[in-house]
Amino acid sequence: MKLSNIFLSDKPTLSFEVFPPKTGDMYHKVEAAAREIAALAPDYMSVTYGAGGGGGKYTLDIAADIEKNYSVPTLAHLTCVSASREDVRKILAALREKGIENILALRGDYPKDGEYPVKKDFRYASELIEEIVSFGGFTIGGACYPEGHTEAESLDDDIINIGKKVDAGCQFLTTQMFFDNDILYSYIEKLRKKGIFVPVVAGIMPITNARQIFRSCELSGTVLPKRFIRIAERYGDNPAAMKQAGIAYATEQIIDLYANGVKNVHVYSMNKPDVARAIQSNLSEIIKA
Ligand code: FAD
Repeated sequence: MKLSNIFLSDKPTLSFEVFPPKTGDMYHKVEAAAREIAALAPDYMSVTYGAGGGGGKYTLDIAADIEKNYSVPTLAHLTCVSASREDVRKILAALREKGIENILALRGDYPKDGEYPVKKDFRYASELIEEIVSFGGFTIGGACYPEGHTEAESLDDDIINIGKKVDAGCQFLTTQMFFDNDILYSYIEKLRKKGIFVPVVAGIMPITNARQIFRSCELSGTVLPKRFIRIAERYGDNPAAMKQAGIAYATEQIIDLYANGVKNVHVYSMNKPDVARAIQSNLSEIIKA
């Protein structure tokens, strides 16, 4: 099913994400996790894609498995930093053939250590979006950054570039993780003031590993509220307690988002069915209200 139809409804949505294995020997483990998450019947599931195209085949296979065997709509991520126009057209044809109707169109990060080649056909996600539009048949989403993308000069500049993605045919935006909802509310207001009215899906990361999150927030420039830092410092060395606290924090964030009219929430469930299940169960009545 096309996500553009799902977003039309007034009903709040809750969706989950999985990432594909890098190598074939891990495929069955990831597939099993994806199936467990799919069995929770979320509104949709997304499957990420390596910036260098690594694991791309598995992205397609896992998305197709979820779509076919669980009837859960899927959103396949697709990056272009390391893809030629021909590569992209082949992937689009394969997605169409597998019945996948939704794509999150991304540029991908530039490699820091020559880990994968950079190709020149697409400079920005907006150019990939144009290609997908001309191919036809997909609902297309893009990434957005409530605290600004790390390469952008300013948040205002970044929002101008988000506008280019939307002009190119991007029909919804999914946010980078954030831990302070006020940052998202102010960002959405800025988007609307610039005339960007597509649905904004809030990306929520339940923290189960405090060290990892401190590092990735430092890299992405994501602000960590004091309340969050205290929790991570207190429970970070106790995996079971950190997981419980991370699920509780994410749940509270989501309840506040729904209460404030942000209707679509995507959980970065990171191949962890237990985390997805706990969050869904915490919201069982709230999602219906
Ligand atoms: P773009 O939209 O192209 O933006 C990149 C930078 O260029 C920004 O600073 C922007 O302001 C600037 N820019 C954009 N257009 C223009 C223009 N026309 N002129 C000048 N400047 C411009 N990475 C993966 O490898 N695989 C994934 O599956 C994946 N999934 C993601 C999902 C989400 C929800 C998010 C938020 C990120 C994801 N990423 C993923 C990471 C993403 O690939 C990186 O953040 C990457 O650095 C930027 O990708 P983008 O699509 O936002 O790029």
